[in-house]
Amino acid sequence: MDLDEIREHSRRLSARYRITDGHKFRLSDIDPDDIGNLKKSDKKDAEEALTLGIRALADLQGKLYAEHQRGILLIFQAMDAAGKDGAIEHVMSGVNPQGCEVHSFKAPSAEELSHDYLWRCITRLPEQGHIGIFNRSYYEEVLVVRVHPELLAKQNLPPALVDQKNNYKNLWQQRYEEINNFERYLCHNGYVVLKFFLHLSKDEQKKRFLARLDEPDKNWKFSVADAAERQHWDAYQHAYEKMIRATATEIAPWHVIPADNKWFTRVAVAATIIEALNKLNPAYPTVDDDKRAELAKAKRALIEE
Ligand code: ATP
Ligand code: MG
Repeated sequence: MDLDEIREHSRRLSARYRITDGHKFRLSDIDPDDIGNLKKSDKKDAEEALTLGIRALADLQGKLYAEHQRGILLIFQAMDAAGKDGAIEHVMSGVNPQGCEVHSFKAPSAEELSHDYLWRCITRLPEQGHIGIFNRSYYEEVLVVRVHPELLAKQNLPPALVDQKNNYKNLWQQRYEEINNFERYLCHNGYVVLKFFLHLSKDEQKKRFLARLDEPDKNWKFSVADAAERQHWDAYQHAYEKMIRATATEIAPWHVIPADNKWFTRVAVAATIIEALNKLNPAYPTVDDDKRAELAKAKRALIEE
């Protein structure tokens, strides 16, 4: 595959999983085992194309960095063992680390709980020219916090806001709106926001957990808490569906990427990022006449040194 073909392929692949209007979205419409128009035997070719695609990504990132105007925020959400870490590692393997930061958001600290819920994410937004990656994000505020209402009680919110009888239902709706507004704000300030939900099946999660238990090198990845969260599978799926329905927008679309085949997840995620950067079409800043004269002068000085 040459670069033009990869570009075209990326465009089609990313469009397949992009949700820009959540109203009609159903999680059950996307099969976690889907591999697009590819066949399992295409795995090797797809991975080769991914390597080329990542090289193209690095070139685009270099231009984005040089422009120093626009930025990209990539948000990854998923159930445990869906492959967030692997997808991030692969996709970013070729980019210049100076222009790229990854932040993982875990259970909030006491300091973080003493602020509004967006605060900790705002402090880690990418600079202009950078690609910022959120490994989990403020979306946990309508996911884990919704599945475990006791977490809300720790957020030091005014009681009227979390009043179960009067306001509780509105609270999630309100958070969706706040998130949509926040993402619109980012967009108006030159940022592209791309959100990924790596959609794993319950069976595949079980297989991956068992592998983590059986293979000594993977033991460290297993936590008993993950198995406990699995008991809330349906509640999470429900929360994810509602979240995507409410927050998939034209300016900040969700990409629901099938995650039962790791190689395909990586290819589809990379394709989406390549497509977004291609659309931005960054370019190295051009130099005006004054600057060119300055450069010529500096060159002469160096030669005559
Ligand atoms: P992995 O398990 O693959 O290392 P992970 O992203 O699951 O990656 P963990 O160390 O398990 O990382 O920690 C993330 C945990 O923190 C998740 O269970 C997540 O739901 C929780 N978390 C993240 N944000 C919040 C939040 N705002 N409030 C409460 N819990 C949160
Ligand atoms: Mg985990």
